[in-house]
Amino acid sequence: MEAELKDMTDDLESLKRSLPDSSLHASVDKLKLHVENLAKMVKSATVQRSKVKDMSAEVVDSNPYSRLMALQRMGIVENYERIREFSVAIVGIGGVGSVAAEMLTRCGIGRLLLYDYDKVELANMNRLFFRPEQVGMTKTDAAVQTLSDINPDVVLESFTLNITTVQGFETFMASLKNKSFCPSKEGSGVDLVLSCVDNYEARMAVNQACNELTQTWMESGVSEDAVSGHIQLLIPGETACFACAPPLVVASGVDERTLKREGVCAASLPTTMGVVAGLLVQNTLKYLLKFGQVSPYLGYNSLKDYFPTMAMKPNPQCSNAACLERQKEYLVAKPARDAAAKAKREAEASLAPEGPLHDDNEWNISVVDDSDLGRIDATSAGALPEGLTHELPSADEFEKSPAPVPADTSVDDLEALQKQLEALNAD
Ligand SMILES: [Zn+2]
Repeated sequence: MEAELKDMTDDLESLKRSLPDSSLHASVDKLKLHVENLAKMVKSATVQRSKVKDMSAEVVDSNPYSRLMALQRMGIVENYERIREFSVAIVGIGGVGSVAAEMLTRCGIGRLLLYDYDKVELANMNRLFFRPEQVGMTKTDAAVQTLSDINPDVVLESFTLNITTVQGFETFMASLKNKSFCPSKEGSGVDLVLSCVDNYEARMAVNQACNELTQTWMESGVSEDAVSGHIQLLIPGETACFACAPPLVVASGVDERTLKREGVCAASLPTTMGVVAGLLVQNTLKYLLKFGQVSPYLGYNSLKDYFPTMAMKPNPQCSNAACLERQKEYLVAKPARDAAAKAKREAEASLAPEGPLHDDNEWNISVVDDSDLGRIDATSAGALPEGLTHELPSADEFEKSPAPVPADTSVDDLEALQKQLEALNAD
């Protein structure tokens, strides 16, 4: 638009020079002035919104956070504004990662670290987020361009690198440890890492970094046929790491190492990727802002609209040395953790009012204690959907050191599990 108007101004100027009758020059100048005013108006319409110092709950059309702060008024989130203190790292800015980044940006996350080595291609246009005019830009640069326009309050850091190279991995680790955004933060410099990569090696690199840093992360994936996906929460030492049991192997019976084959064009749908990104960011918001239940694993089978959930305990025979270290630390801290949980339960029990609040209970309404719900969840957390079985012992059984299982037996078990899952999918 701006270029068109500039051309028109230039054309009017040459018209003026070519006119033999100078009495007409004033009319052309008048036209030129109109066009220049139009150009100014177009320019001012594309100006960015300014930064907002504090998140306001004021309900006015000009407040970008009014609908988010309403979550507090509705009693869903205790303190929404805390979101500005959090740093989230997103590895892989593709079909899932770019949409997750946009969702967190619109939610007003404090800081986003973006990692990708790829460039935007026309072949990416069947997905959400990137636009045709960004073809040729690095995905990280294109993402920063779009996200900073949407919400200038978010601190964006982009890293155009491949985390599976030695140099890339070192930079990745250093960036996760950097605490300049929030120097008082415990642990690493980020609150959560989201893995949105599309290959086994990159997932293993994220797993390695997070195990070394005791960094909680969430893994996500979409199948090669574009019709199913999953998200998984990984807490080093407490839950299975990616090397303990790669989720795609367990959940869909597909060996993920075979997924990325040279010359094979994998299918992708914006719908499945959008759903998986939505599930991932919903779990992220619940984890960071402490509301609802954070899913340890959530699968999505779009053909049957089937959402399996399960919890996976760490494997005491995991091949990852850092994972085994974290498992030991988790067990050592168990008595203190149990005591803290007991003290919390007792404190809550002593605060609970004795006797009925209302003498008349016409409708026989009874309220279930939250701590009872917690206990129910704790016992059912290990339960698997019908047709699935646990392959791994729980972390708390680690010290009992089970008899070592020969490697070929566990492969057989995995194959048996795959067969069970295939049978389940074939229903
Ligand atoms: Zn492990």
